[in-house]
Amino acid sequence: MTGVGSHAMSGSSYPGFACAKPAVLVSVERRQRRAAIDKAEQLEKAYVRRRDWRCRWPGCRCRRLKLRPEVAHVTRDKGMGGDHGRVSTAADMMLLCAVVHRGQDSLHDGGRRIVFLTPSKANGPCRFERRVGRRWSVEGEERT
Ligand SMILES: [Zn+2]
Repeated sequence: MTGVGSHAMSGSSYPGFACAKPAVLVSVERRQRRAAIDKAEQLEKAYVRRRDWRCRWPGCRCRRLKLRPEVAHVTRDKGMGGDHGRVSTAADMMLLCAVVHRGQDSLHDGGRRIVFLTPSKANGPCRFERRVGRRWSVEGEERT
């Protein structure tokens, strides 16, 4: 180990910081880790675009309106706004238009939900449901 962060350099004059990395190195590491996560996620998103190729919501009007769909996080455990620090995989994401994703009566405001029918989550068939009062109405279901 060499450089500013080593024990040899920090020694007994800064006992409290003997094992601590200098802030600048921590920040570089964090940025590199973030960049690696971003890159991996971009690859996963590109895969989702190829896999789904259009908004997956059954019979969605966006197809006629020619809205460009976006890659949306659809697993609840990571939060639908995306995660920070872990790579989202294609199984956690789906190609959906902005209306379905975050418009009024959308996934984000709880007006719609996606039920995974297999452990493959979004890589497998899903059921698409819309809230009607206190019940959920099935808008469509994919088959394998
Ligand atoms: Zn749509």
